[in-house]
Amino acid sequence: NAGPASLPFAALARARDELIDFDGSGMSVMEHSHRGKVYEKVHHEATALVAELLELPKDYDVLFVQGGASMAFAQIPMNFLEAGKTADYIVTGAWGEKAVSEARAMSKAANGGEVHMAASTQQDKTYVRVPRQDELSLTPGAAYVHCTSNETIHGVEYALGPSTPFPKVQAPLICDMSSDILGRRVDMTQFDVVYGGAQKNIGPSGVTIVIAKKSMLDRGRKDLPAIFQYRTHAENKSLYNTPPTFGIYLVRNTLAWLKSEGGVAAIEARNVKKAAALYDTIDGSGGFYRCPVDKACRSIMNVVWRLPTPELEEAFVKEAEAQQMIGLKGHRSVGGIRASIYNAVEPAWVDALAAFMKDFAKRRG
Ligand code: PLP
Repeated sequence: NAGPASLPFAALARARDELIDFDGSGMSVMEHSHRGKVYEKVHHEATALVAELLELPKDYDVLFVQGGASMAFAQIPMNFLEAGKTADYIVTGAWGEKAVSEARAMSKAANGGEVHMAASTQQDKTYVRVPRQDELSLTPGAAYVHCTSNETIHGVEYALGPSTPFPKVQAPLICDMSSDILGRRVDMTQFDVVYGGAQKNIGPSGVTIVIAKKSMLDRGRKDLPAIFQYRTHAENKSLYNTPPTFGIYLVRNTLAWLKSEGGVAAIEARNVKKAAALYDTIDGSGGFYRCPVDKACRSIMNVVWRLPTPELEEAFVKEAEAQQMIGLKGHRSVGGIRASIYNAVEPAWVDALAAFMKDFAKRRG
C-alpha cells in the first residue's frame, strides 16, 4: 500500500514479542509514562537512529510530532513565513499542490507573507517530471523554498543521479520527504527542514517526523501558541506533551531493522533493483504497459503505469489481489496502477509482481 505501508516483519515480530511485557518491566511499552526511564530510552533511541541513518550533522534536530505531513503543510508557513516575506513553492504533483494551498490559507489566516509558485510541472492535468533549475522563478530573499522529493501519487521523484538534482537555492530549502526518506542516500545538509508522515519508510501512521537545522528553528515565529512552534518540540526533545509512544516505539523497531540490514546505502541498492525490475517489465512489454513519467524522474518508491483500457486495469488489480498482491490500484485521482515498493517490501514480492505482469500481458495483450 502507498501508506500506511508494509513494515519490516522483524519490527512487527519484535513488537508482538514485547507487547505485553516490555523489557521485563511487566507492562506494555504503551502503558509506561512518557516521562519514565523505560519509555525515554526507546524515545531517544528512535531519535538517535534517525540521525545516525541519515548522517545528520550535530546542528540538526530530529522531532517526532503529530498531525501528519498535512498538518506540516500549514505549520511550516505558520512557523517560517513572516509578514513582508515570500515563500517559494515548487510543485511536482498533488502533494505539492496541497502544500501551496495550505500555505496560502495560513498566510491569510495568520497575517503571514506571500506565497509564490516558483515552478509547477503540471502538464495536461498531470505531472510527469520535476523542473530543471533554469525553470525556477525564485524570489530574491525568500523566506524559504519548498519542494516535494517524491510525489507519491504521480510517481515523480527528484532522481538519484546528477540529471535532476534538488533545486539549488539561496534561501532555506524545505522538503516534504514523506514517501522516500531513508529509501536512498540523500545529502541532508542541502535542506534546512525536512518533514514527513512516518507511515512509509519510518514506521506506523500517527507519527510525523520533522528534521530541522537548529538555526532555522531559532528563527521561527515566537508569537504562536507553544504547541504550534517547532521550537517547543525541539527544546523538549519531542516530549513537550504526550507523544504517540507506541508509534515511536515501532519507529525504533523499524529503524533498528534498517540499521541491521546495512543502513540506507544497502537499502538503496535493494530499492533501485526492485524499481528496475518493474520499469524493465513495463518498458519491455511492447507498449502494453506504459509509464507516463519521464525516465529521469521515475520514482524508486512508487512505480505507476497504465494498461490499454480501464477495464484491463481493473482486471489486473483483481487478479493480482487473488494472488495476494495488495494495494496496486492507482490513487483515485489519477487511476492506473501503482506499486508502492518502500523499504520493507521484499525483492521477492516485486519479482513475483513482475512475473505476474509478464503473464498477464501474454494472456491479455
Ligand atoms: N506528502 C506526501 C508526499 C505524501 O505521500 C503524503 C501521504 O501519502 C502526505 C504528504 C500526507 O501525509 P499525511 O497523511 O501524513 O498527512
